[in-house]
Order: sequence, then C-alpha cells, then structure tokens
Amino acid sequence: MQRIIRRVIGVLCLLLATPLWAQVFDYQVRFNRSLTESETRVCFSDSIPRMLITGDIAAAPLLAEVQVRGGTVRRKANRLYLFPDSDQLCLTLVQRVKAQSSSYDWRRQRRGSMWFGRDLVLPIGSWLWRPAKLTPGQQIQLSFDLPAGVNISAPWPVMAANTFRIDHQMPYNWAGRMALGRFTPIELKVGEQTLEVAMLDGLERRRNLLDWLQQAATTVAGVSGYFPTARTQVLVLPVGVDKEAVPWAEIQRQGRPAVHFFIDQHRPIYEFTRDWTAVHEFSHLLHPYILRQDAWLFEGIASYYQNISRVRSGLLTEQQAWQKLYDGFQRGSKKIGGAVLRDSNEIMQFYWGGAAFVLMADVELHQRSGQSLAGVLHRFRQCCGEDMGPWSAKVMLRQLDQLSQGTTFIQLYRQQVSRRAFPAVYGVLDQLGVKVRNGRVSLDNAAPLAGIRREITR
Ligand SMILES: [Zn+2]
Repeated sequence: MQRIIRRVIGVLCLLLATPLWAQVFDYQVRFNRSLTESETRVCFSDSIPRMLITGDIAAAPLLAEVQVRGGTVRRKANRLYLFPDSDQLCLTLVQRVKAQSSSYDWRRQRRGSMWFGRDLVLPIGSWLWRPAKLTPGQQIQLSFDLPAGVNISAPWPVMAANTFRIDHQMPYNWAGRMALGRFTPIELKVGEQTLEVAMLDGLERRRNLLDWLQQAATTVAGVSGYFPTARTQVLVLPVGVDKEAVPWAEIQRQGRPAVHFFIDQHRPIYEFTRDWTAVHEFSHLLHPYILRQDAWLFEGIASYYQNISRVRSGLLTEQQAWQKLYDGFQRGSKKIGGAVLRDSNEIMQFYWGGAAFVLMADVELHQRSGQSLAGVLHRFRQCCGEDMGPWSAKVMLRQLDQLSQGTTFIQLYRQQVSRRAFPAVYGVLDQLGVKVRNGRVSLDNAAPLAGIRREITR
C-alpha cells in the first residue's frame, strides 16, 4: 500500500513539476545486467524533430539497432534523420556499450567510456540520441529501468527515482558523464546544499574520502557563506597507482555543473586533504560557464580562491596563502610568450595572470566601496545563475560592473588583460603589506592596505 501511495505521490510531483505548456519527450531506458547494452524507447508526436543527434561521433557505431513505428529513419554518422508518415513516430534504439578498463590507460581514455571494476562511466555525448535543439518548454525526461542493485549518477535535475529532466538550456554537445553500477549514491550536506557523490568500484567503503570532499566543499562555501551550486554531481573515480593523490579533476557543465575526480585510491588520506585540487575545482563553481578562449578568467578565479578560501577555513596560514599566490605570480610572469594575457596560451601565464587580475579587482572593490569580489560573484549567481552561458569574459565583467555599480572590472580588463602580458600586481601586493625578500613572503600590518588584506582572508 505504501508503495502505491509513494508511486501516486511520485506521479503527482512529476505532473506538478511540468509546466502546462511543456512538451516532454519521454525516454524509457533499460540496461542489461552486465551494463553492456541499453534499449531506449521514445515516441515523438506533435512537433516531431527533424533528426536526433549525439554530442560525440563515437556513438554512431554503437547504435546496433533502430526500430521505428510511424515513419522511417535514415542514419548518417551521429545523426538519425526522422521521416514521419503519421502524427506520431516511435523509436527503439539498441546501443552497445564499448568501454575501456580504467587500468588500461585512463589518461588517454578519460574522455571515453570506462569501466571502474564493474561500474561504468559513460560520457553523455557518446550515448544520448536527442533532438539537436529543444525549444523553450520542450524537455527530455529520461527514466531508467536498471537491473537489481544497480544505481545511476547523472548531472540533470532528478524528478523521481532514476528519472531525470533535460531542458532547452542544455545543448547536446556540452560534456557530462553518467555513472552506472553497484555503488551506493551518497548525499553529502554542505550547509544548505547537497553534493550527490558516487564513489566507484567499492570506494564508498573508504569513508575518509568523504571527509576530504566535505572539507574542500566547506572551504569553498566559506568564500561567500554558501556552497555555490545546488545538487552537484560528484564522481570519484579510482584509477590505481599514480604519481599523486588527485592526478586529474575537472568540471563538466552538461546538466547541473558537476565535479569529477580521478584519484589514486591507494594514497593515505592526508595526501588528499593537503592537496589543492579539490578546492580549486569546487572554486570553479563560484563562476558560470565561461568561454574556453577566456580561460584566463575562470582559471584566475579558481587559482585565487583555492588559496584565499583555505586561509578562511584554517587550512593555510595567511603567510602561506600569500606565499603561494606570490610564487604563482612569479611562475606566471616568467613563463610569458609574446601574447597579451587575453590571448595567451601559456598555462602558467593565464592561470596566474588571471589570478593577479582577480586579486586586483577584489582589492579595488574593497577600496572603492567596501564590497568584496565574493559578494559580487554571489549576487551574480542570484541574478544570472539561470543563464547557463557560456559567458564571454567581457559580457560577464560588464555584468559584474553593473552589480557592483562601478567600472572596476572593465577598466582593469582594458588596462591589465588586453594590453599587458601580465597584470601589474606587485605594486598592489606591496600596498597590501605582502613584502618579499629573497623570494620569501612576510606580512606587514603597517602597510596602507593591510586592513583590506586581512579582510580578504578573514
Ligand atoms: Zn581550473
């Protein structure tokens, strides 16, 4: 009886969550026991899309069978053209899963499908056949019917158990991953927000890795008092013996922003909690999706806050954090190609040049109007978080100027990013009381902007 009531409530919730004008494409998906094959059934009516497409061409040879009712289809690479001969066209797609073992060469494989033990990680682009474009009001609902004991982790909003929604704001070619397997999904609370953690291949037994994630996420929440994103998918993927605890991590933006960690699970926990990678990646959630060509801005924000936030949470002393920032600025300003920061392809230059820009903006906001960059970024998420982007640096900086009622961001951009190879940050450090002798940082509380320095890390 309880089951029936739960089911009825589930259906009611789905109905309530669906706007009256919405057109929902209902995908019913089944995976076989070994997760080596999926079968997807979907019917389109009213406005039948001209074609279905996948984000990755790798999906094409894995589409083993297409059954169609109410029309015909023509396949061409990763496109499936639909030719309805009635007002409804129904498809059954049988897809094979072809994945490499993570023990094989995970660095080369990580963009593709991978096995972690018997758990599967599937890039969405190489599996999901969907309309190339959804118009406002059109949604895809994916309902997974999974073998007993198998769970799923996916980056989209959850509508009911194993049921997800994709709306028109999610382009088909944005990267994201699903994980399927015998892991237990874990909800990790960070203040008001929740991380939806999936630790693959039995890793959930290592509970202390959750402390590592909690510590890093709480540290980033300390920047503005809130963890920046809701129900964030976190995948922890064990890759075996490697040269460091977290050899790779990345943000993906298909669905809600997600953070994926590739880890050497054999490392002791203190190597994880000392590592900066998790704090850096969670710091990327402080900003929206920014165009790849403007990497100086998003890597600058994350490189700045990976240090500033760790002082606030007590993981670094003030001196250690400014030393790390100074060392970064040194690395960045030595490794300079011929390009101005805006156009730089040198990793050290645009990571640390970006961080220098971000520091200068933060200082100027404090100086000019007692505002902080963390506060302005928080207001940005409130005003514009619905706009998934990708944002260009210039459009985003204009918006930040509007929110902070000034011209700090655009002016700094013009002076420091579009004309110089590396921002003139050393004078600002000096004013903040970050003094350097033989490469070693000490802090001077009598410096003119020492108060602002302490405010930034408080
Ligand atoms: Zn980064």
